[in-house]
Amino acid sequence: MPTKTSKPGEAAIEVLSVASEVYPLIKTGGLADVVGALPGALRRLNVNMRVLVPGYRQVIAKIAKPVVLKEMASLFGGPARLLDATVSGLDLIVVDAPHLYDRDGSIYASPSGADWTDNWKRFGAFSQVAGQIGRGLIDGYSPAIIHAHDWQAGLVPAYLRFGPPTKVKSVMTVHNLAFQGQFPREIFGELQLPAAANSVDGVEYYGAVGYLKAGLQCADAITTVSPTYASEIRTPEFGMGLEGLLNSRTSDVYGILNGIDLEAWDPGTDTALVEPYRISTVRRRAANKRAVRERFGLEHSDAPLFGVVSRLTWQKGIDILANVLDRLVGMGAQLCVLGSGDGGIEDAIANAAGRHPGRIGIVRGYDEQLSHMIQGGADAILIPSRFEPCGLTQLIGLRYGCVPVVTRTGGLADTVVDANEAALSMGAATGVQISPLNENTLTEALRRAIALYRDEAVWAHIQRRGMKSDVGWDQSARKYVALYEKLMGRAVSNGD
Ligand code: ADP
Repeated sequence: MPTKTSKPGEAAIEVLSVASEVYPLIKTGGLADVVGALPGALRRLNVNMRVLVPGYRQVIAKIAKPVVLKEMASLFGGPARLLDATVSGLDLIVVDAPHLYDRDGSIYASPSGADWTDNWKRFGAFSQVAGQIGRGLIDGYSPAIIHAHDWQAGLVPAYLRFGPPTKVKSVMTVHNLAFQGQFPREIFGELQLPAAANSVDGVEYYGAVGYLKAGLQCADAITTVSPTYASEIRTPEFGMGLEGLLNSRTSDVYGILNGIDLEAWDPGTDTALVEPYRISTVRRRAANKRAVRERFGLEHSDAPLFGVVSRLTWQKGIDILANVLDRLVGMGAQLCVLGSGDGGIEDAIANAAGRHPGRIGIVRGYDEQLSHMIQGGADAILIPSRFEPCGLTQLIGLRYGCVPVVTRTGGLADTVVDANEAALSMGAATGVQISPLNENTLTEALRRAIALYRDEAVWAHIQRRGMKSDVGWDQSARKYVALYEKLMGRAVSNGD
């Protein structure tokens, strides 16, 4: 029986989560989903998690009746306020600093697409505020743990470490080691950190300032979003130069899988679907498949339909996929692609769609509704990533009976069971794995998936087994609580 994490009478654990994105306020990727889902999952385990988020124009527009918690005369060159707000059940603290966040364009880049040149200041200020909250900036609020996410919050552990002593413990979670927040050494003087922080024990990284590096160096614990990625990032192939530092902290590194919000992603109640369905009615997906084909201009036939919902980038291996599209069509399959990213990759898919009308379709851009339709209507979801810290798309695919075809890496390896003979005979298979990733192995995986699809009983079994997979937050939330307890010196409840 799982141990209940909170003991009778024990005070709730107060955690401040610090992140540059939070669903449903502002999202560019999986980080937002995770940051938005964790507070709800942890609340059931006696953890109060507030989320500190920058007051981008898009965020300020969505908060009604904010309460001013604190006025700050100057935060990195302009006045700022901390606002208390509740949105969709999330308890937020918003850093309202118009000189940093009230802008056209995306949250990381100007309308021209180039990163904001003052991102170091925007996220340095953001991290400094988190550190100050840890030291009592807001009357009556003293979190025991500050949980920082990705490079934008990477300086938080440094602000906590290099300042007056504090009992607050820090957790640094890496959602993607490829984004490190590297800035010229000249900015150090502007960060209002003591000189001692400008060292290999602090923010200094190969003669520059590394935000994520600082977080990994200074945090009390490091987590990443799957056990396999936690091992991979200690190797030169995946460590992106930080493997040495991560190896020096092996006992402080934890891999805790992400989950998905089982209410937001429920094929039984999903209003984006023409025909909602459950495990017992999975055949009803046929109506959704028709709708997806219509949306993408694909022919109605007995062809298996593969879907992609992704950033169209090198990391996601979509360039490799683009190179095998003639083969995919040649094997009798169809493909619908939703996403945007690298222009060359988008064009390669659009060209293939031009060569194969009715067989391949692409919708460029970001479309939440359409992503639900694809998961509810395509037969399989393709995720040929070169690396994948966790990945949410395959978890959604599992829940929706949209069989994941994935590279055996990171969280994809941890969550999808390959339909090899042994797994099939045990009834454990939930998808198809590609390993290692290249054009030939991807083609082979597609061929295997198509063969499985052609065997109706086997395919239905794989779908149903996937739909029964545990892709929610319960287990992982327990692991976070166990980590918080350990850092606080409390008796640790069962995190397994
Ligand atoms: P990432 O590396 O982009 O964070 P994840 O798999 O962890 O990848 O999370 C991606 C999230 O963004 C998923 O919820 C996925 O459904 C969603 N997503 C990605 N691209 C699109 C798109 N073009 N339209 C709608 N949703 C998308």
